[in-house]
Amino acid sequence: MNDHKANHREQAGEQASVNFIEAIINEELKEGKNDGRVHTRFPPEPNGYLHIGHAKSILLNFGLAQKYNGKFNLRFDDTNPTKEEQEYVDSILEDVKWLGADWEDRLFFTSDYFDRLYEWAEKIILDGKAYVDDQPAEVISEQRGTPTQPGTESPFRNRTPEENLDLFRRMKAGEFADGEKVLRAKIDMASPNMHMRDPVMYRIMHAHHHRTGDKWCIYPMYDWAHGESDYIEGITHSICTLEFEVHRPLYDWFVDQIREGEYRPRQIEFARLNLSYTVMSKRKLLELVKEEYVNGWDDPRMPTISGLRRRGYTPESLKLFAEKVGVAKRDNVIDVALLEHSIREDLNKKAHRVMAVLEPVRVIITNYPEGQVEEMETENNPEDPSAGTRKIPFSKVIYIEKNDFMTDPPRKFFRLGPGREVRLKGAYIIKCEDYKVNDETGEVEEIYCTYDPDSRSGMEGSKRKVKGTLHWVSAQHALDAEVRLFDRLFMKEDPEDVEEGKDYKSNLNPDSLKVLNGCKVEPGLKNAVAGDKYQFQRLGYFCVDKDSTAEKPVFNRTVPLRDSWAKMKGR
Ligand code: ATP
Ligand code: MG
Repeated sequence: MNDHKANHREQAGEQASVNFIEAIINEELKEGKNDGRVHTRFPPEPNGYLHIGHAKSILLNFGLAQKYNGKFNLRFDDTNPTKEEQEYVDSILEDVKWLGADWEDRLFFTSDYFDRLYEWAEKIILDGKAYVDDQPAEVISEQRGTPTQPGTESPFRNRTPEENLDLFRRMKAGEFADGEKVLRAKIDMASPNMHMRDPVMYRIMHAHHHRTGDKWCIYPMYDWAHGESDYIEGITHSICTLEFEVHRPLYDWFVDQIREGEYRPRQIEFARLNLSYTVMSKRKLLELVKEEYVNGWDDPRMPTISGLRRRGYTPESLKLFAEKVGVAKRDNVIDVALLEHSIREDLNKKAHRVMAVLEPVRVIITNYPEGQVEEMETENNPEDPSAGTRKIPFSKVIYIEKNDFMTDPPRKFFRLGPGREVRLKGAYIIKCEDYKVNDETGEVEEIYCTYDPDSRSGMEGSKRKVKGTLHWVSAQHALDAEVRLFDRLFMKEDPEDVEEGKDYKSNLNPDSLKVLNGCKVEPGLKNAVAGDKYQFQRLGYFCVDKDSTAEKPVFNRTVPLRDSWAKMKGR
């Protein structure tokens, strides 16, 4: 199947039976490569929180290890002490665990390998394949040339191995200031691949490292450290995103300098996940957090794993999503509706249906006995009979949604209006007899209805049908709640699509968060704890927020019920 078709199948949410990486592995297994071992890793740099793109990569790497009875490592690529923080390490551990990707006892840090990397660097120097360059970074960068023009060799390129070794040792010993010297691989300044033009292996940085403290003042560069770390861990498939394709010859070159025997980890690139209506670069996500466009890394509008978790996404929904997206070889943008479709699919099976009224108006049932309370038995989840039933109290005064009533409704408005009848879900049919308008605001304040005592749901005589069914809660029993509704964080499908002189932040949606206070929810929700998920009848899926208290539950809307993705497919 060609990529184009594969992408289409992925977009359509179908799962190709074998993705291209699995095809590669299957081929290798047939040839007996790596003695049939499959060993993958996820190598985050602890300089930010993980996002849904990382989730894709984690699930891919872990999924391959599982599928081939192999192993999966978690390795922090902590080679840049100035940008990395323990907070990020902790959040990454939490997120990977939450996703269910089990690294068992294989949690590693590139910094664990600093000694080994250093020894190998000395060996490469003695082999005459690395040298210390005294030139400043700007000069080195200029000398690299352009893709069409070869670079210029450094005047320090032909130092003897002995001199290089001496200088390198002195670099390590702290004799030089930041930027005064670097160690470079001696490869080919005329290579058509810019990455092969004597790349830097070590730079001097007198910086405190979150794990190695002040032991080191030289730090290895990504390209040098990454492949060697894979090699140390016995990784067979080093899966990364497409921008590293041009680094692959260098990855191989570095490993070839030090490897013994047949084994060499193989780098394979796949298309990074891009989602519509959001940004995924760590730099931008950090900016949104630091400049308080959002309320922290776990703001439910963020594409971070912690944000999605707080929003109400489940690990299973992200797995469903990752499977539907598939593994592509060309960059593409996935419609965020597919992500929302995945959480609906999961929660439809799991979430209990409950009643909540977000913008309440009082309804008084004039012919209902004063003080009477009936317990209405209702199913927790019609999709799952094993979820059981519960009782919800019904009484003379209830709340319904403001927008379920109109004083002068059009004919097709199958909700409440003067003289019209609706069923209250799981209870009675009521008929609107009158209503009261607030003189000042002009808003409907109270609605007066009568009920039909013979219409109780599930009872003999309740066969009578009416067009509309409304959700409701009993006023005297309801709990007050806060509900947070979210819209897309950005107004444009591609937030980078901006007018000249502006940046992606100009596309931020000013109405992405709407906080509703004075919502009314059924009393059974008083025991709900952060992370619990529900379907609010007719309104969507909601999740208890961490800000929730016993006095005031707070709910985040994960997604509304309407599924634009399913509709698109159904057409
Ligand atoms: P940066 O390197 O700018 O800090 P990054 O997103 O590449 O950002 P890393 O921590 O290096 O962050 O990423 C860890 C792993 O996650 C890498 O293997 C990377 O290829 C993968 N990854 C990052 N972004 C995506 C994405 N959008 N889709 C799939 N995989 C991704
Ligand atoms: Mg990276």
